[in-house]
Amino acid sequence: MTSLFLEDAYLSTVEANVTGVREDGGIVLDQTCFYATSGGQPGDTGFFERENGDKIIIAGTVTGDTKAEIIHVPAPGQATPDIGEKLVLHIDWDRRYNLMRMHTACHLLSVVCPYPITGAAVSETDSRIDFDMTETIDKAEVTARLMELVKANHPIFNRWISEADLEANPDLIKSKNVRPPRGQGDIRLVCIGEESVIDSQPCGGTHVGETAEVGEIHIGKIEKKGKENRRFRIRFGPAPA
Ligand SMILES: [Zn+2]
Repeated sequence: MTSLFLEDAYLSTVEANVTGVREDGGIVLDQTCFYATSGGQPGDTGFFERENGDKIIIAGTVTGDTKAEIIHVPAPGQATPDIGEKLVLHIDWDRRYNLMRMHTACHLLSVVCPYPITGAAVSETDSRIDFDMTETIDKAEVTARLMELVKANHPIFNRWISEADLEANPDLIKSKNVRPPRGQGDIRLVCIGEESVIDSQPCGGTHVGETAEVGEIHIGKIEKKGKENRRFRIRFGPAPA
């Protein structure tokens, strides 16, 4: 299984071959552009097109025993493809693109608020990040700093490094609060800004290519969740007056 979204988040359609159908109906392919639920980002939905034009609606995408194993979950009542069958995969692109914008916004928030992250969830319309912090921050100020990063249109790119390289150069990771997984081979860093000047952190999710694509966002709410926890909500659009 080749996870094509790791190299190209903009690949919305691709051809693939069925390599397995699980007892629960989950479809396994030789390669896929469908992102599987992980790291707070929900998996892709969409459909598979069969050679005769029939569609198999995909309701979700999840990982199996390892992150490299990706299982496409058909909606109830869909036909089962044959092993070896060629399919054309189509992601629900509007939904995925919004998730890419929101996920990237979370990276920007971790730049503006460089505190340890204790939880995160991305959705099509908003995102939340929980920070381990005690300070009180003005949400209008956070919104203004987020929008500065968006408007500056910094490039966003991937950089793969070996665990050994990372150990020798710990400064490659600018966001110290995200620990890369160990023992799974090379690590993908998601870098923002020329020469990663704004940020770099290990992440397996999907992101837009330039910060301006995030578009207008604002902090909708900052909730106090216990003495040392603040929950930030990022929403699309301008802050309500
Ligand atoms: Zn990410």
